Amino acid sequence: MPKLADYRQIAQGKVRQIHEVDDELLLFVASDRISAFDHVLSSAIPDKGRVLTAMSVFWFRKLADLVPNHLVAWDDPRIPDEVRGRALLVRRLEMVPVEAVARGYLTGSGIAEYRATGSVCGVPLPAGLVEASELTEPIFTPATKAELGAHDENVSFDRVAAQVGPDLAARVRDTTLAVYAAGREHARGRGVVLADTKFEFGLAPDGTLVLADEVLTPDSSRYWPAEGYRPGHVQPSFDKQYVRDWLTSPDSGWDRASDTPPPALPADVVAATRGRYVEAYEKITGLSFDDWLG
Ligand code: ATP
Ligand code: MG
Repeated sequence: MPKLADYRQIAQGKVRQIHEVDDELLLFVASDRISAFDHVLSSAIPDKGRVLTAMSVFWFRKLADLVPNHLVAWDDPRIPDEVRGRALLVRRLEMVPVEAVARGYLTGSGIAEYRATGSVCGVPLPAGLVEASELTEPIFTPATKAELGAHDENVSFDRVAAQVGPDLAARVRDTTLAVYAAGREHARGRGVVLADTKFEFGLAPDGTLVLADEVLTPDSSRYWPAEGYRPGHVQPSFDKQYVRDWLTSPDSGWDRASDTPPPALPADVVAATRGRYVEAYEKITGLSFDDWLG
């Protein structure tokens, strides 16, 4: 049996790390770390890495008819026991340097840009939209990838076309919107709003566009409970709301505007948040998390 340390680590994200298995394969390892308000918290959420990994697998399989993906295996002797259930073996690709964002609802940096300019990433939008408004047509709002710790920068489609070529840019845009539409439709049927999401794509040696990274997980997407959806307000997050509520409550004693890192989460907030991740997985997939590898 291989050990994780047998595979050279080649990257470390906020909550995931990537190891090299060989020239063609990578191991994506999800941790239980959680970020909120742009901080990685000192408290981990038990099973979060397994839930997000299970959810990515669900979506890769569900969307496979629509777009090829990088997933090779999730239950495999090449995956070390110590990360079983929270690691994916994936095809190593030449990545397209674009954060491929689709938005069906206006929030976050989308509503901020709309308020300032009336458009998002160069896409003009009608007047009168408010926080969490549903858009008539989902829009492609690409961003450039920022260094660790910095914010991604929203860019126009033309900027992407200038960077990667108009043909590839159009394929990324069209695939992003098609996959988002399929994901949103499925989520809607299960009582969850998929407000927006970010995909990353790579190119196979023959030029095929391949869906990579993590897919439609709560870390790459905004999920809102459909029940109680009310435009004009910031919607509660399906997964992180307990964390945000506690961090911004007087109980935490934390000043969000300050430079100080947030305090550790109390055990009940950790437990409730773990429950939300499991609930999100089970609600969206219709599967029991008990049946996932562990
Ligand atoms: P963060 O997401 O925490 O802001 P990050 O994006 O640098 O930071 P990760 O998301 O953990 O960190 O890193 C994933 C990296 O792997 C990204 O650079 C992504 O583009 C890349 N990647 C995803 N899928 C593949 C693949 N199939 N082949 C090669 N690289 C990939
Ligand atoms: Mg990333």
